[in-house]
Amino acid sequence: MTATGRFAPSPSGRIHLGNILCCLLAWLSARKKGGRVILRIEDLDTARCPRQYGEQMCRDIRWLGLNWDEGPDVGGPHAPYTQSDRTALYQAALERLEGQGLVYPCFCTRAELHAASAPHREDGQVIYPGTCRHLTAEEAAEKARRTGRSPALRLRVPEEEIAFTDGHMGEYREFLARDCGDFLLRRSDGMFAYQLAVVVDDAAMGVTEVVRGADLLSSTPRQLLLYRLLGLQEPAFYHLPLLLDSDGRRLSKRNADAGLDTLGERYTAPEILGKLAFLAGFNPSAEARTGESLLADFDWEKVPKTDIRIPEGLF
Ligand code: GLU
Repeated sequence: MTATGRFAPSPSGRIHLGNILCCLLAWLSARKKGGRVILRIEDLDTARCPRQYGEQMCRDIRWLGLNWDEGPDVGGPHAPYTQSDRTALYQAALERLEGQGLVYPCFCTRAELHAASAPHREDGQVIYPGTCRHLTAEEAAEKARRTGRSPALRLRVPEEEIAFTDGHMGEYREFLARDCGDFLLRRSDGMFAYQLAVVVDDAAMGVTEVVRGADLLSSTPRQLLLYRLLGLQEPAFYHLPLLLDSDGRRLSKRNADAGLDTLGERYTAPEILGKLAFLAGFNPSAEARTGESLLADFDWEKVPKTDIRIPEGLF
């Protein structure tokens, strides 16, 4: 099977160094195997990710010289490539899970979960305490009537450990019932959850390797559960370390100079890629490099496993 990698940015702003490193490694990892690359715009949260940001993201990735074989501007058998245009697929997957009796409506608000002191995961998400898990259909209807709320939908997780070996980070496991709880498939406002959409899309697009930031390592067991329940082929996963600013804080929109709007005025695309490849361990002197010219040097073995601090003055 042809190796197939993907870039799956959420365009909530201009592309920044963290996304660029992720695109670069996804591109190198797939191309090194002679594989294909797909670009998919993850704009489920349409309020945060307006169309023009997605379009700008495509232009930015093209400017960086990281070409893709399927996606916006290229087309292919899986079009469209923008999640907000693919909701019928997510709905169909949801219905398959409902058919297995694994989905239930949840009326809890964030404030209620907070007031009930529901425990939190390390990433700040609530471990759902199961409040609505055992509602009968009558009780759910009564709750809907009484609160006037439309429910979110949650997946009933099994009492089972999900373990996998990440291609870069190694072994990772979670016992979902304890470490995560029943998780959201669709929010009360109708927005499909990232966990469901990403699985449906990666499987539909024939993705064989998912390369992304280590902040999503802890989402992977939930996604693996969905692959199994939906009978879909699981890809390999490679999680890369996160970039930190020179103060050791995770890069975010606060770091205005990490966005391509600023960087693009100061550096050429090969200069940006060369510096990132230096931080990622496979460009010894930080000189300007194109994606193509980095192919021979790229090796997951050289990439650090812990967060990477960007030294003062590199960018
Ligand atoms: N859209 C996500 C992001 O930009 C990445 C999702 C993924 O790679 O699975 O953070």
